[in-house]
Amino acid sequence: RILIGVGCSHFSTAAERSWRHGDTLRVPNLIGGSFVDSHSSDSIDVLNPATQEVVSRVPLTTKEEFKSAVAAAKEAFPSWRNTPITTRQRVMFKLQDLIRKNTDKLALNITTEQGKTLKDAQGDVFRGLEVVEHACGMATLQMGEYVANVSNGIDTYSIREPLGVCAGICPFNFPAMIPLWMFPVAVTCGNTYVLKPSEKDPGASMILAELAMEAGLPNGVLNIVHGTHDIVNAICDDDDIRAVSFVGSNTAGMHIYARASASGKRVQSNMGAKNHGIVMPDANVDATLNALVAAGFGAAGQRCMALSTVVFVGDSKLWEEKLVERAKALKVSAGTDPEADLGPVISKQAKERVCKLVQSGIESGARLLLDGRTIKVPGYEQGNFIGPTILADVTADMECYKEEIFGPVLICMQADSLEEAINIVNRNKYGNGAAIFTSSGIAARKFQTEIEAGQVGINVPIPVPLPFFSFTGSKASFAGDLNFYGKAGVQFYTQIKTVTQQWKDLPSGAGVSLAMPTSQ
Ligand code: NAD
Repeated sequence: RILIGVGCSHFSTAAERSWRHGDTLRVPNLIGGSFVDSHSSDSIDVLNPATQEVVSRVPLTTKEEFKSAVAAAKEAFPSWRNTPITTRQRVMFKLQDLIRKNTDKLALNITTEQGKTLKDAQGDVFRGLEVVEHACGMATLQMGEYVANVSNGIDTYSIREPLGVCAGICPFNFPAMIPLWMFPVAVTCGNTYVLKPSEKDPGASMILAELAMEAGLPNGVLNIVHGTHDIVNAICDDDDIRAVSFVGSNTAGMHIYARASASGKRVQSNMGAKNHGIVMPDANVDATLNALVAAGFGAAGQRCMALSTVVFVGDSKLWEEKLVERAKALKVSAGTDPEADLGPVISKQAKERVCKLVQSGIESGARLLLDGRTIKVPGYEQGNFIGPTILADVTADMECYKEEIFGPVLICMQADSLEEAINIVNRNKYGNGAAIFTSSGIAARKFQTEIEAGQVGINVPIPVPLPFFSFTGSKASFAGDLNFYGKAGVQFYTQIKTVTQQWKDLPSGAGVSLAMPTSQ
């Protein structure tokens, strides 16, 4: 039962008062500023991946409750959009302070529900916090443009205005960072929001919402609903929702992109990945091997920017053995174990899927250099643990290469030249990230120019841009036109109005001209 406390005890007394009644494990909706229990009798158990204990229960929010959440957001919009931008920024300023003060609580909740190590969970919070910090100065990104005297006595200017009610649909792997990619940018631009956290780990979103309210976000500006396919489809179809942000798998992302676009919404959809690291023989051996191990196995490989595929060029293939030694040295344990390097994967089904993909690789001729599938973690025998696993001699036609594995599995390929390695990466359908490890500026520049991936690392294994840039995955890793956060994020959550004004003394008796006005 202590774990239940971990899941729930971090909400403030104010929030507990509002929703701690009846079933204390039930996660409430947030509608119009109140944490309210859903009337739905259907719910999904949130399980601690290291122990299988039930942490909380997520309701399948009903259609009526969803409608109330959208209605609350719609009602809150007129006054929120007219709230001065400086006031909206100040809410973010307070929120960043509250997130900072509550980082440990958020991290513990993430570790309990998602499984990653506490240190990694703190990184999850911090990378989201940076977006909130950026939102504190977002006014400059909302500035319009002005051209004086486009014609005699006529000026034209453009204004960036909020869209209205926007919605966000989140994946399980970054329970704090990804909600924080979404609602802080949207609401600072003057929109109101309906957030649907992952049904696998909603706790961090609930804590963040509570902190946002404490920071001064007015009732109805941020609302939270729960569920899976049905609620997602309701978001896609709702006439009052103007834009949808999605992060998750390709199956869900392309469905949401098509369905929400079909009903006239803006959509930004960040999806799956297969990120390659090209290792040149002239790279720094020690630093490169550390980077490969950290980026391949960190978060148990459950990062969309995990470096899951290594392409050894020429003699760097000889480093495989050292790679195995370093991977073997990692400690697999519950995320709360301070010594743990990696924790469990999210569910039994996820573990089964990862193991199947590894097996299919072996059956198609890959060499298993390290096998973590049967690992037992003392004290956590029920956990969904997979130890670091390495497959070598993988080829592009193998299932384990074509599919995103999303587990602590590093697959190794080889190429005779940089040219060949770049071709391997470019033939892959995904385009989230790619990295090169080299001491040659010439090789790095060729890679940067020719590689078809949206986020490129040069001796940097996980090149996730900070919030003043945007998260720029490409090819099958992204659908939409405007990326998450940064300038593009502000553009996504605003629309342009262009005003043309005339202030001049007009001569009387000039007559009427029905010709198209021109500036000549
Ligand atoms: P997921 O697609 O299973 O779930 C994401 C969300 O979509 C959840 O809220 C879920 O309820 C909903 N959903 C799932 N299937 C659906 C369907 N068929 N119809 C409607 N809604 C559906 O993803 P996940 O397993 O939670 O997250 C892992 C995936 O997310 C990986 O593929 C990873 O690469 C990707 N991801 C991408 C990025 C990025 O920025 N590119 C970041 C993080 C995670």
